[in-house]
Amino acid sequence: MNRLVPADGAGIREAARALAEGRLVAFPTETVYGLGAVVTDDRAVARIFVAKRRPHHNPLIAHAADRAMAAGFAWLDERAERLADAFWPGPLTLVLPLKTGVPVSPLVTAGLSTVGVRVPAHPVARRLIEETGLPVAAPSANRSGRVSPTTAEHVLRDLGDAVDLVLDAGPCPVGLESTIVDLSEPERARLLRPGGLSRERIEALIGPLEGVDGGPVRAPGLLGRHYAPRRPLRLGARRVAADEALLAFGPEPPAGARITLNLSPRGDLAEAAANLFAMLRRLDEAEVRAIAVMPIPAEGLGEAINDRLRRAALPVEPVA
Ligand code: AMP
Ligand code: MG
Repeated sequence: MNRLVPADGAGIREAARALAEGRLVAFPTETVYGLGAVVTDDRAVARIFVAKRRPHHNPLIAHAADRAMAAGFAWLDERAERLADAFWPGPLTLVLPLKTGVPVSPLVTAGLSTVGVRVPAHPVARRLIEETGLPVAAPSANRSGRVSPTTAEHVLRDLGDAVDLVLDAGPCPVGLESTIVDLSEPERARLLRPGGLSRERIEALIGPLEGVDGGPVRAPGLLGRHYAPRRPLRLGARRVAADEALLAFGPEPPAGARITLNLSPRGDLAEAAANLFAMLRRLDEAEVRAIAVMPIPAEGLGEAINDRLRRAALPVEPVA
């Protein structure tokens, strides 16, 4: 059984009851749709991994209704407080030391002593977590390795019967997953994943972020091919062939593609981010040899857009 429920008051109450009973609820956040289970419920959290076919070593983000709920299970130092003041609720996940003795399922953290925490800004997500009264673990509501869902229809198409209830509030406004910053070590701040909040805005508050290159792997789900359409992707395209689809950006896309979708005709990166996954899905359904993608500027949200495009363009290999 699966059910698409409008995200009104009655729908949110029904979804909160379903979560409390250990069922899996997909819900909208400002980034992408999440597949939720209460963080204390081992069996429900285990079902997330089955539904997504997600490897167990890939930890989940715990979503809190507010900072007080987040501080119930994670230690926020002065840097985390500063970022939370500025960007919570919003598309920023902080990896923080997990408090000891809190009843967070070890499946959520993949057994680590740290936890990824976020306070989402989408009013439906916040009301759902408030109503549930407990943090909600929620990875993106897609099969592992596929493009993240930015509409309720994407969720149903990917997960089908594996999800018990989908709260439908239309397309996600940001459209890219959250930015993940690891603050679990006192002297280090590392960007584990570029996302819906730009690096520049974070660095303005806490200074330069280290990358993950060369360091130990802390975010195992972030390696290799991910966000993958079925068709090959050709990046940096300035011309296009007649048997290709074109994912365009800006006012002057080259002519000649079998089908063209424009991420943002006016060259706006926030608009491009919001359109990225839905347009990739639509072009992937077209009968074309490949998807050509025009160059996207690297600054601001462009860092995350280019990151997702590069991962989607990697050759097919078994998804870890
Ligand atoms: P998703 O929920 O699919 O957006 O993925 C969340 C990402 O956050 C995963 O790829 C994890 O690797 C990362 N993450 C979550 N918790 C932690 C943690 N405690 N340490 C490092 N990375 C984390
Ligand atoms: Mg995901």
